[in-house]
Formats: sequence, C-alpha cells, structure tokens
Amino acid sequence: MAGPNGASARFGLNGRSYEIIDHSFDVVIVGAGGSGLRALVGCAEAGLKTACVTKVFPTRSHTVAAQGGVAAALGNMGPDDWKWHMYDTVKGSDWLGDQDAIEYMCRNAPQAVYELEHWGVPFSRTAEGRIYQRPFGGMTTDFGKGPPAQRTCAAADRTGHAMLHTLYGQALKHGAEFFVEFFALDLLMDLQGRCRGVICLKLDDGTIHRFRAGLTVLATGGYGRAYFSATSAHTCTGDGNAMALRAGLPLQDMEFVQFHPTGIYGAGCLITEGARGEGGYLTNSEGERFMERYAPSVKDLAPRDMVSRAITVEVREGRGVGKRKDHAYLHLEHLDPAILHERLPGISESARIFAGVDVTREPIPIIPTVHYNMGGIPTNYHGEVLTKKGRDSDAVVPGLMALGEAACVSVHGANRLGSNSLIDLVVFGRAAAHRAAQLVKPGETLPELPADAGEAALARLDSLRFAKGEASTAELREKMQRAMQSHCAVYRTGEVLAEGAAQIDAIWRESEDIKTSDRSLIWNSDLVETLEFANLIEQAAVTIHSALSRKESRGAHAREDFPERDDKKWMKHTLASIDAQKKTVRLDDRPVHRYTMTKDVAYIEPKARVY
Ligand SMILES: Cc1cc2nc3c(=O)[nH]c(=O)nc-3n(C[C@H](O)[C@H](O)[C@H](O)COP(=O)(O)OP(=O)(O)OC[C@H]3O[C@@H](n4cnc5c(N)ncnc54)[C@H](O)[C@@H]3O)c2cc1C
Repeated sequence: MAGPNGASARFGLNGRSYEIIDHSFDVVIVGAGGSGLRALVGCAEAGLKTACVTKVFPTRSHTVAAQGGVAAALGNMGPDDWKWHMYDTVKGSDWLGDQDAIEYMCRNAPQAVYELEHWGVPFSRTAEGRIYQRPFGGMTTDFGKGPPAQRTCAAADRTGHAMLHTLYGQALKHGAEFFVEFFALDLLMDLQGRCRGVICLKLDDGTIHRFRAGLTVLATGGYGRAYFSATSAHTCTGDGNAMALRAGLPLQDMEFVQFHPTGIYGAGCLITEGARGEGGYLTNSEGERFMERYAPSVKDLAPRDMVSRAITVEVREGRGVGKRKDHAYLHLEHLDPAILHERLPGISESARIFAGVDVTREPIPIIPTVHYNMGGIPTNYHGEVLTKKGRDSDAVVPGLMALGEAACVSVHGANRLGSNSLIDLVVFGRAAAHRAAQLVKPGETLPELPADAGEAALARLDSLRFAKGEASTAELREKMQRAMQSHCAVYRTGEVLAEGAAQIDAIWRESEDIKTSDRSLIWNSDLVETLEFANLIEQAAVTIHSALSRKESRGAHAREDFPERDDKKWMKHTLASIDAQKKTVRLDDRPVHRYTMTKDVAYIEPKARVY
C-alpha cells in the first residue's frame, strides 16, 4: 500500500476501509515540545524539508509548563565554568551518566542559551541587563568545593512557556510544516532495521497518514502518567518510547524515575525548585528545617532524589505535617513579597488555586511527586538512536533519532539535576539538526516503502477501535497507575517490586480484554486514551522489571534491601525490550561511557555523593 507524496488510497481491513494519505519529507519530527521544535528550526534552517507531527497544538506541549529555568554556565551572577557544570551533572547522575555526552551538553549550553536569547526568549534580567540566573539543587562551584552556583537562566517562573513560544515562532518563520493533532501510531521499519518513517492517525477526520522520511526523530516526551500522581501533563504518555519498544528496540535505564520533592499535596502540580533557589526552605511537624541534617552544606538545595528521600523519611518517622502527618511544608512567607511577585508569580498562583495558600503568609503543603523520566530511548550525543548488535553496544539504528525526555543520551544518568532538562532539549535538538544536515541531502529521492508498511499498526488501531472486552480503559489505567505509585516509589524493596511487577504483568495481559465504546474516527478520545494506555502499560512493565533487577541504590533508585551503590556490578545501563505479543520483558545491559568527548577534561572518577 505504498504511494507517492500526497497520494491517497483506501485500505480494507476486516471489511472496513481506511483512507491512507502518503507524504514524503527529508526529515519528520514527532513532537513539538522544546526538543522537537529546536531540532525543527535547525533542520529547516539547513534547507531540509521538515515536517513536525504533534498530537497537541505545539504550544500546549508539556515544555510549556517548565517553570524554574535552563542551566548554562554563563557566569552572569558570579564565577562559573562549564567544567563545574559538568562535574555537578556527573555527580548528580550518581556516575551513571555518559561523560562524553555530559561534556557535550555542558560545553555547548551557553551557546544554546544565547541562541534562544537572540531568537527572542524574554529572560528575566540583572540590573546590568544580563540574563538572570538563580541557584538550583546540586549546582555548585569549583568542582563541588565552592558555594552553590547561580547557573539556572530564568524567565520568571515561566521559562518553558517563554522558550516554547519563541521556538514555535522561529519554526514558522523558517517555513517548517506542521501536522497538528496527528497521533503517531508506530514507526515504519524495514527488514534491514532502518527506520523509514512513521504512521499517524489524523484526529479530526480519521484519515491515516504515512510519512516517509530520510530521518525520523522521536521527541515525544516522558511517561509520567504511568503513575497516579505526576506533575506532568495528561498527554505525557511516552508514545515514542512505546513505538521504539514495538519496533523491537530497547529502552535504557527505565528504573530511574524522578520524584520532585515539591508537588502540591493532593493536586500533584509542581512548585518549582526555583522556590528554594530564591530562599524557600522545608520544615517538618516540629518546625525543624530538616534538610540541614541530610545535606549539611547545600541543605534545601540538595539534588531532588535526596530531598525526596528526606521528606519520605520524615513522614515515616512520624514528623509529617497535616491531619494525616503525611507531607511537609515549603516556606516562602519570609521572602519579600515584591520578589515573590517578580520571580515566582506562577507558583504563587498555583499555590493559591491548588492548595488555597497565600504564599506571602503561609507555607505550602508539599509531597514528592513523579516528575521526570531519566530513562528512555538510548542515543549518542548526535541524537542517533542506539541498539545492541552482537558485541557492538553502540550500534546506530539508521534513519532514527530521539530527543528530549523520550531519549536517554545519557546525561542525567540515575538522577537529573533541576534545569538540566531544558538545556538537554536545546543542546541536543541543535546537535540533531547538525547531524541531520550531514546525513540527509535536501530533496533526495527516498526509496519506496515496503509494500506492507504500516499494515500491522493499522490492524492494531482497528482492533482497539472495535475492542469488545470486559475491562474499560479507565479502569485498567487506574489499576496500573496505583500499582506503579505504591510499588515503584521513592523507596523500593525486592519484595514490593516483585509484587508490583506481577500486578503490572497481570494488567498488561488483561489489556487484551479491553473495551472501547466509541467506534467513530472523528475526535475519538476513547480511542486515543486507549492507544495511550497501551503505550503506558508497556513502559510501566519495563520500568518495574528494570527496577526489580537492579540490586543496588543509585540516584533515584533507592533499594532498602541494597542500600549501597555497587560500581563493580552495576555501573552499567539497563536495557529493556519487550515481546509485545507474549507481553514479556527482556533485560540486558550496556556499558556506561567511562570517557569524555575531548582531552580538555578528564574522566571524573566515581566517589561518594556527599553534599
Ligand atoms: C511542571 C513541570 C515543570 C518543569 N520545569 C522544568 C524546569 O524548570 N527546568 C527543566 O530543565 N526542566 C523542567 N521540567 C522538565 C522538562 O520540562 C521536560 O522534561 C521537557 O519539557 C520535555 O520536553 P520534550 O521536548 O521532551 O517533550 P514535551 O514538551 O513533553 O512534548 C512532547 C511532544 O510530543 C508530542 N507527542 C507525544 N506523543 C505523540 C504522538 N503519539 N503523536 C504525535 N505527537 C506526539 C506532543 O504533542 C508534544 O508536542 C519540568 C517538567 C514539568 C512537568
């Protein structure tokens, strides 16, 4: 069923007929968040005919919600150096990050931020007119020996909003083509293992679109919604990760799920770490600033994994606040209201709406909440997707790239530092565009798609659309989210993980008995939620099985039964793939890159992570 560009054909399936429309592009990018748009601008600038497919309107991508800022060693507020940023990122990653990629990111960060500035991102300013930078957790000076660094560039507490809107404007300026409210279903892979494009459902009319491309880029974001309480948008269902799994590719380090220490109790929305960067602090039921005990030097500005664990311990030991003594307080009321108004207006509003709190008078009730996925599709620092082939653990999958939260470069390793995601998006979005310009010739004729390209994806869509089982999508999703929340949380044990893995496997099998009720193809939200659930359950399965297998504590993965980091056995990336038919997970591993990109910096040897 292959056809030329723009051609339309009909395809019959189970007595039903689907209209197929074919497109051909040099590059197709799935996702219009910060990473997808940055790559899009770069590809369009390089003269590549580039399409961006997105299930939500570009400026509604989750990047729009990013608050605190974007890290780059500009040194606007005091001495700074990209090598210090690199040191902090390696230490923050608990030595699971690939140091060549971390060097690439920290080195290129200032340039990527200046680019954003020149394109029009309205950063907050210092008195001298430079980009304003605030302190963030785990960001220090002088290789951890100096005081906290002011490295996080901010546009008040709406940095992601400012970045996303600016990037969208730039993409339009360069004539990139948008396919908005198109839901990508699956990758089109050929028998040689090359990615040839992607197949999508147009949500407003039910037509099927096949995008043939020299290069396909997955920039589909994280999968926070595998959990019950997450700071991420409901659209964060990791669709690209699941597409990679179904294409037979592994995902990497999926056990590392970041809990942000300050989600609003009950609602789950985020209060940025920037609040602590501006001087906010946490207390327990005794009014004690407990972080002083856990991280004597940086206190409330310790990395997120540590602060989340500290809050969990305080609650467990009976020092939680509130009626149920199950959360903690974040104080901002000692700060100058003018500063709160200028630098933290967004979270002041969130606290009022979602916690009924006036931050100038009372503390905000907070609780660690799922926030970010360190794991994802393994790539090198050009954005090219990697897989393991025989002895080669860094084999490039031709025609496929991954970026942003969907990818695992891996710069965040076992724990991401705050403000290092936004910089990851733009540094590697930019790198991917550079690589694309080397790999793809503008207007090059692409080989025909294999005759049956996309048939399996269409058959899957059709079967979900007409699913007549017993279990509704909403029921299965809630069971999955609750099992993940209770069994794969801040602290983990083998016993609880094994029980959770059995529950998730059972829900995965039960999903064969799923029930949808809307059969239409026009704005069928029942079908979209079912497709998203089908993606989430695959990721929940690889996450919990990866967590069960890693018998050590590192970064965000805290095993009470194996409390120490074990570099001998476990300084390696987990690879998890699935058998989508049998619904089973297969685990493997690949080495961490224990080398840097250039000779300018030496490999940073592992040591204890003390703050
Ligand atoms: C509340 C919040 C605050 C944050 N604050 C910060 C911060 O201050 N600093 C920082 O560094 N990080 C922050 N983060 C993390 C950071 O914002 C995210 O990791 C990052 O924005 C993800 O960007 P992305 O480009 O990978 O994808 P996203 O912005 O999540 O976008 C995903 C895109 O993929 C598209 N898509 C997904 N599935 C499909 C499909 N099936 N078909 C078609 N399109 C699809 C969507 O339409 C969307 O355009 C924050 C995160 C949250 C949730």
